[in-house]
Order: sequence, then C-alpha cells, then structure tokens
Amino acid sequence: EASLIPGRVIRLQSGFYTVETPQGTWTCKLRGRFKLEQKDGDVISVGDCVQILPLSDGTGVIEVIEPRHSELVRMDPRPRGEYRQILLANIDQIVAVFACANPEPRLRMLDRFLVIAEKQGIPAVIIANKVDLVGMERARELFGMYPPLGYPVIYTSVRQGVGLDEVRECLRGKITGLAGPSGVGKSSLLNAIQPHLGLAVREVSEASGKGRHTTVVRQLFRLEMGGYVADLPGLRALALWDTQPEELDGYFPELRDRVAQCQFSDCTHTTEPGCAVLAALERGEIHPARYESYLRMRFGGEE
Ligand code: GDP
Ligand code: ZN
Repeated sequence: EASLIPGRVIRLQSGFYTVETPQGTWTCKLRGRFKLEQKDGDVISVGDCVQILPLSDGTGVIEVIEPRHSELVRMDPRPRGEYRQILLANIDQIVAVFACANPEPRLRMLDRFLVIAEKQGIPAVIIANKVDLVGMERARELFGMYPPLGYPVIYTSVRQGVGLDEVRECLRGKITGLAGPSGVGKSSLLNAIQPHLGLAVREVSEASGKGRHTTVVRQLFRLEMGGYVADLPGLRALALWDTQPEELDGYFPELRDRVAQCQFSDCTHTTEPGCAVLAALERGEIHPARYESYLRMRFGGEE
C-alpha cells in the first residue's frame, strides 16, 4: 500500500492542485470529503502543507491538509452570502513595493495595506524602489517614518543595483505576499533577484487579472535561495471588511500605543479633550500623514 507524501500546494488551476514534494511535483485532486466542507469558505489554498496519496497514473490525491500557522484572507461577496477566501496560507510577510517617484508614492494606499496586514496579524515590510530618481536623502524623507512603527523599509534601485541583497535577505526562506501598484518596478525587482521570476509572476497575474478571477492568488513562485513569493491582488480586492470604526486605531501602532492614555475610552482622537493622540501629534511624535490616513480610513474619503 502506498504511503502518504508530504508537500506544499504551490498552484491552483481549475480544480487541480500542484503539490511540491521531496519526490517531485504532483498534480493532485482534493479528496471529495473536503469539497463538502468548502461551503462558506476555502478549505485549502496556495501555501498549504498537505499530504498526498500517489496514484498509479502519476497523479495524486490530497488526503490531509495540515493546520496553517497564518493566512491572508478576504471576504468575497457572493449571491448566497459572503465566502471566506484564503488567498495565501502560511504567509510569513507582506512586502509592499512602492516607488520613490514615477509613479509618485501613494502613502495613503501604503497605509491601507499596513492596516490590512495589522488586522490579519501579518508582518509587513516596505520596499521603496527607484531611489535613483530622487536620491537617498529624499527617499528617507518619504519613507523614514515607517521603521520606528515596526515596518522595515528597504531602499532599492533596480536600475543601479542598490538594495538587492537586502531584498534577497528579506525573502529568503519565507512565504511572501507581494503587494503594490503597477509601475513601481515589482517585475524588474523580481527579475533582478532571480532571472525571469518577474516575468513569470506577471504572466500568471495578468492571466488571472482578466474577467472575474481578479482576487485569486494562483501560484507561489519558488525562490532558488529558499522561500516563495506570490503576487497579491490589489487593495480594492483585499479591502478591510468587518472592521468597526472604533477598532481602527488599534491597527496604527503609533495610535495603539497611546489610546489607553486618552481621557475618554471612546475617544475618536479628533476633538476630544485629554486626547493622548492629539497631544502626541502636537508634539510631532505622530506623523501628520499617518494621522491623516487614520482620519480618512475612519471617517471615509478615498485616498
Ligand atoms: P511593475 O508594474 O511594478 O511590475 O513595474 P515594472 O517592473 O514593469 O517597471 C516599471 C518601469 O519602471 C519600467 O520602465 C522599469 O524599467 C522601471 N524601473 C524599475 N525599477 C526601476 C528603478 O529602480 N529605477 C528606475 N529609474 N526605473 C525603474
Ligand atoms: Zn484620543
């Protein structure tokens, strides 16, 4: 009797799962009983560790889905109610790529990514690319507020080969979800890390970007140095759901650390007397742009 082989799901395609194992890559189907559970949400996703039963025809059946240590999820509105999609199982970090210029960095958008990462308990790293266009000093003016908040920033120039070793170090051995608007140099950066990687990622994303499947993560790309990267859908698809306005300050580290000192427990940090956030803002301890992001996200308005 054949025994089970451990592996990782690296690709989803029309009901088939590509599973990478120590004994090669297998095309697998999911054992039927799992599909019955797949009613209000995914039971399996790219990134999952599984055990497969090899069949004599060279394909496999996924028999076991191991517990995951983390996941990036989104709620998909569907006619019969919300469906909980798992975009990336066992995700270690979200890396948000922005450019210092061309296109101008949209820090409001970056802050939204960071809030989503905070809400889902996933560490976030920022890559500030195209440093060559503005110089390091200006780049640090733009992004320097983030490391003290707990978000490392890697300054890169693909053009000049700056910061690439740091990016490799950041990705090595981890499962990374890549985010960021188009044109910032994501593909170029991945190509610089590993030949053809950016092209491969872009191809898959563009294929799934058409039509209704804009929200799916279809494939993990293996890094030769260890680890995997996947392209995440845009902000609109990720979005915050099920977030009460009152909990938003908990997703801004610099606010979260201070709200306990506000005079009122339901303080919105806008006009209240005895507000520790406003006091810190006044003292220059909270960056005005971050405070503005908080206001926009809490009280509406696009970025
Ligand atoms: P993507 O849409 O994020 O995948 O961006 P691309 O990798 O396609 O890059 C968009 C444009 O930015 C291309 O013309 C690249 O040559 C350019 N680019 C990428 N990295 C850099 C960089 O570090 N400096 C400069 N000046 N341009 C870059
Ligand atoms: Zn307050």
